[in-house]
Amino acid sequence: MLLAARYVLPIAAPHIIDGAVLVHGDRIVEIGELEKLKASHPDEEIRDFGLAVLMPGFVDLHTHLEFSSMRGLVDDLPYSQWKMQLLDKEERLDSEDWEDAARLGAAEALQSGITTIADISDSGASARAAAGAGLRAVVYREVSTMNKREVPDVMARANEDIAEWREYGDPSRLTVGIAPHATYSCHPEVYRQAAEKAISEDLPVSMHVAGSKDEYDFVKYGSSRLAVDYRDIYSGVDLGWLPTGVSPVRYLDQWGIFEVPNILAVHCTQVDDADIEILADRDVAIAYCPRCNAKLGMGVAPLGSFLQRGLRVGIGTDSPASNNTLDMFDEMRIGLLIQRSLSGYEPHLIARQFVKMGTLDAARALGLDHETGSLEPGKQADIIAVDISHSHQIPTLYPYSTLVHTANQENVVFTMVAGQVLYDSGRWSLLDIDRIQARAEEMRVKLRT
Ligand SMILES: [Zn+2]
Repeated sequence: MLLAARYVLPIAAPHIIDGAVLVHGDRIVEIGELEKLKASHPDEEIRDFGLAVLMPGFVDLHTHLEFSSMRGLVDDLPYSQWKMQLLDKEERLDSEDWEDAARLGAAEALQSGITTIADISDSGASARAAAGAGLRAVVYREVSTMNKREVPDVMARANEDIAEWREYGDPSRLTVGIAPHATYSCHPEVYRQAAEKAISEDLPVSMHVAGSKDEYDFVKYGSSRLAVDYRDIYSGVDLGWLPTGVSPVRYLDQWGIFEVPNILAVHCTQVDDADIEILADRDVAIAYCPRCNAKLGMGVAPLGSFLQRGLRVGIGTDSPASNNTLDMFDEMRIGLLIQRSLSGYEPHLIARQFVKMGTLDAARALGLDHETGSLEPGKQADIIAVDISHSHQIPTLYPYSTLVHTANQENVVFTMVAGQVLYDSGRWSLLDIDRIQARAEEMRVKLRT
């Protein structure tokens, strides 16, 4: 099939005007000008999107699909209070609710042009939903306990789940990893054992790191609401915690978790230059979640310093529970504008860089850039079409600016993963959207009352 549009953005190469992408099976075969490809492949079926952008699907570098029913549930509270409220509401959901919430998230991801997710999941619903919807996914099994004696049990259950979750999908699309939740919910032994397991079994790791001032104060000084209220609810027992006197990044570094080769740190808003040195030395990839960080008052990640030090950085949404949509256009736009507000016109703060961070750079952060993240012959056909023909978008002079500064998730008209069309003009090929939406309404009632 020949996919065609006014603009084709390979990402790893300059954009093509009036371009096309030839797809055979699950792979991209050729990219170039439409007229030339038509001439060399006269029998190929053509799908022309007109005034649109064809580009690789977005890689959402951090999300939790199973939290999608919590959209808009707890707004206007700072991070630690938001987290406590969510924990309280979670009790009301049964296992089928988690499944359908994750399906709702998967449907929104596809409709937003996301073709790959990096998801931290507790229940496994994210892995099942991603596989059922056809998404490419790295799903990390969350582990947490502050009680050292519970660590062997927690890790044993995680081992079983990781083996089981791998069975949910084709290994070419689904990878399962492990995710120590956060410094305030994991005993150091969790980090040590997770590191050992990940290194010996070649598992990817993702974890929330230095995401809020509350977390920073908890680790360094033993204070903040996370040290008191949250831990009372979370552990149910009085566990001692001695202030460490160091930053979250330096604290984590002591437990060997950054030695894991495929490791992704999420947020990193509370880091200084010495922390960034550690992250760079250990080749830690970073998920930049600008909208979630802004909405929950978590701080602003020092993106310029990350990029200057050569860290791999991509963009994450962090689920509708926090930000409230899986809209990568909003993430790129707000992510750029926040940084420019703070530091003025820096060379890296341009639309093209943010489109790259939403696609190829995020794939590099996951070690998946040999398969996805750009349009190149031989790569998987993970391709989206974004309609840019609306009155607020024309004339289009530079497609990267149009995407970042005028587009939104509803402009995505077509989403393909591995050559399979999963979303096309309001229709999902593998999901029953009417049923999912009806279930979302049922969950809304449960969560609101
Ligand atoms: Zn998260």
